[in-house]
Amino acid sequence: MTNRLKEDLIETSQFGRMPPKRIESYAQLDSEKGITRPDGTEENKKIRDYAVERMKEAGLEVKVDKIGNIFGGKRGCKTDKGAVMSGSHLDSVMNGGMFDGALGVFAAIEAVRRMNDEGFENERPLEVVAFTGEEGTAFPPALLGSSVLVGKTSIKDGLNRKNPMGQTLEEALENIGYKGSFESSLDNVEYFVETHIEQGPILDREGISIGVVEAIVGLTRIFATILGEENHAGGTPMHGRRDALVAAADIVSFVRKRANEMIDKLGSSTAGTVGKLNTFPSGITTIPGKVEIGIDIRDVVPQNLKNFESEILKAMGDASERYGVDIRTDVQYIHIPVKLADEVINVVDRAASQLGIKKKRMISGAGHDAENMAEKVKAGMIFVPSVNGKSHVPLEWTNWEDIEKGAQVLTQTLKSLSRR
Ligand SMILES: [Zn+2]
Repeated sequence: MTNRLKEDLIETSQFGRMPPKRIESYAQLDSEKGITRPDGTEENKKIRDYAVERMKEAGLEVKVDKIGNIFGGKRGCKTDKGAVMSGSHLDSVMNGGMFDGALGVFAAIEAVRRMNDEGFENERPLEVVAFTGEEGTAFPPALLGSSVLVGKTSIKDGLNRKNPMGQTLEEALENIGYKGSFESSLDNVEYFVETHIEQGPILDREGISIGVVEAIVGLTRIFATILGEENHAGGTPMHGRRDALVAAADIVSFVRKRANEMIDKLGSSTAGTVGKLNTFPSGITTIPGKVEIGIDIRDVVPQNLKNFESEILKAMGDASERYGVDIRTDVQYIHIPVKLADEVINVVDRAASQLGIKKKRMISGAGHDAENMAEKVKAGMIFVPSVNGKSHVPLEWTNWEDIEKGAQVLTQTLKSLSRR
């Protein structure tokens, strides 16, 4: 039963790979030759065409909306009930892997095929979706197609976005034949389920096939410029120096220390990383007069994220006084934490139990279209393991047995939801 889904993923693994090559096993992967298929490219068109063909074969009615999202619909026998939607995205990062996004689209198509084979009668309509621009590689920011669908981004703003070559998304979609005409909405949708690779090491490390996702972490970025006073490393007495890097050092260690304390005391999912640190003038004989610092903080609980942000800002204030430096900050809220729907979480959990498949409740450390969908409909996610926790790289891999288990749990989940 796995063969169709496996074949879909193997066949599409050549789209965006140079030179094109069908990958059937981990051993065939090349650590330098991954998948590149941003929206609007010929490679992106190939996987879209392939998905549309499979949708049609499965008896789905295919429509493309104005932002290029592809929908494949199957009527339900109770027409007054909201649809069950499932899918993910077909675009990729530069030199990424073959499962990110594609798995969620083809698993949803496979679930429909299995229901067809069994003669299963879905009461609610089913809708398979392939979102445009989830990665934001060509037309940033990310999660474009689902942002338009939920109404956070207007169609006009989306279509006017430009890629690095100066081409608009509208032109790019027209070029590949995916500038659709209908305006999609969620008016008749009740549930959304996204199957995705974990993109982290937990399931693989613990030997568990299915992650039942309960929430998606929020992400805040704090940028700061620390202004001290540049001066000679030898001639300037230690007392009274205004060293911007010494102030930054306190902040770096505070972020790590506080994240660990939160994890220990609250059992939280907090992460805090200072991944950006630029020192000026960066000369060994000069006291640093200016430092730019970029901090990435994440947590699944909104209050934890907010508290962590305030504490970091306070630590900056303290460092500013202690070292006589000025600190200018800019806080950017990239994603708010999103709680997925209990009803869907429970259905996924029960599906895995009924099938005798090992599962684990977990959170997603990466952003997904499901976080947008959760604002408007009851949304859930099913994770399958990423071998060695790797994703967004050519060596991204998920074992075929786990892909099959993911397909089984998704099929069972969609069947249950369609009869609620
Ligand atoms: Zn993805």
